[in-house]
Amino acid sequence: MLKNEAGHWYVIFSCEVAEIEPLPVGNSEIGIDLGVTHFAALSDGTFIDNPRHLRHGQATLKRRQQALAKKKRGSHRRKKAVKLVAKAHRKIANQRRDFHHKHSTQLVQQHQTIVFEELQIINLTKHAKPKQDENGTYLPNGAAAKSGLTKSILDAGWGQFQHMCVNKAACAGRVVLFVNPRYTSQVCSTCGTVRKKSLEERWHSCECGCELDRDTNAAVNILRLGRSQRRETCVEAPPF
Ligand SMILES: [Zn+2]
Repeated sequence: MLKNEAGHWYVIFSCEVAEIEPLPVGNSEIGIDLGVTHFAALSDGTFIDNPRHLRHGQATLKRRQQALAKKKRGSHRRKKAVKLVAKAHRKIANQRRDFHHKHSTQLVQQHQTIVFEELQIINLTKHAKPKQDENGTYLPNGAAAKSGLTKSILDAGWGQFQHMCVNKAACAGRVVLFVNPRYTSQVCSTCGTVRKKSLEERWHSCECGCELDRDTNAAVNILRLGRSQRRETCVEAPPF
């Protein structure tokens, strides 16, 4: 496939999974909570942080977009500014893809089973339509409130990352599971008690003595859900 992006021609090969060969079956399992504070919190207590160079790229993009907004329509300078904006976009996309490749490869190499939350990306990112009440007055639909979160989700590119993990796991003979995200951040991963938290609360503290980063607690719950989901699947399978 040939693609032109910001004046650059690309030849696109579908070989992104070629780096992963079938791997021996292992025992390691990991639950992953994708987030905004960290790119990912893992159930083993480690984190994958968002790369700093992406933030630099985003700052450059913002600066160039502001410069573009000041250029006169149809001017030569405007054309130049448009190209610079596209170039910044391309650089961010490439850096993000490299980052996702690196970490999806590592995860698949290290773990036999990877468990994610099912993402509700479509609901969060689709353009919220304004709703009307019986009198024809527009009701607030929370679109503005959501947009900050939406931007974070799009920026994090979680879907692309999960997609890479699924493809690489398939090549390596490893497993990626998806679980329902409900309550994963509210339930204590040690005792199962519900500990309600607001979005700002970053720490999970439970009477049972469990003290964990909020997202680590969620990742452990995700792993637990993945295990029970697999057990259920095994029970349903015919007993050979
Ligand atoms: Zn507890």
